[in-house]
Amino acid sequence: MKYCILASGSRGNSIYVEGRDTRVLIDVGLSAREIENRLRSKNLDPAAIDAVILTHAHNDHVKGVGVFANRYKIPVYGHPETLDGITRLLKPGQKVQATNGPFQFRGIHLTPFRVPHDCEPTHGFLVQEDGRVLAICTDLGYVTPDIRAHLKQAHALILESNHDPEMLMGGPYPFHLKDRIAGRTGHLSNHNAGELLQELIGPHIRQVVLGHLSNENNTPELALNTVRRYISPEYHSRLSVIEQRTVSEVYHL
Ligand SMILES: [Zn+2]
Ligand SMILES: [Zn+2]
Repeated sequence: MKYCILASGSRGNSIYVEGRDTRVLIDVGLSAREIENRLRSKNLDPAAIDAVILTHAHNDHVKGVGVFANRYKIPVYGHPETLDGITRLLKPGQKVQATNGPFQFRGIHLTPFRVPHDCEPTHGFLVQEDGRVLAICTDLGYVTPDIRAHLKQAHALILESNHDPEMLMGGPYPFHLKDRIAGRTGHLSNHNAGELLQELIGPHIRQVVLGHLSNENNTPELALNTVRRYISPEYHSRLSVIEQRTVSEVYHL
């Protein structure tokens, strides 16, 4: 399996996943044109995408889904309520596939799991092929036992490290927004990500990418340095960070 983070952060999210027989996008939170540009920048062909799979209906995850899926005549997969939340973005007759639980798509196994976020429902995903498991876990206020149990299966992890609590509280956002971000249905802080990784990290985890960083309340260096403090130095080289403007390397798992 290969994957590439096309965008991550509150201004847009999309992850490319390639299996042996298929290519999919998890979320399309940028314009279709920007997604195409970012795919092509890594020599990936937009026309080869077979489906879009959605985590939740927030705009930073669905902005371009209607146009992109319509342009390439591909189906949009998601929880029924997530699909209900994006009808405004779809053209009449566009193909959607409601999923409520684990499903397969052309050899890839997808296992959604619920995460606490201020958009109901929001899901993380385990993406699995040939015994290799990629976990995608962003947009959550805190880590539940069920989330932990899912992430323990991962060999690679894209994990939210949204904000530094001091930058958030001392920053320019109005109080209600600070409260929302730091709250139980908001976003994981660098420390939250560090504490979780302290528990999860081990020889079986090959790659961890910290993502969904706040532009205002975090920096890539701060996220990386904070999370590193929680994990053993032998694993530091497996940790990287993705910022909003950039496309990640194409990872092999
Ligand atoms: Zn988001
Ligand atoms: Zn969200």
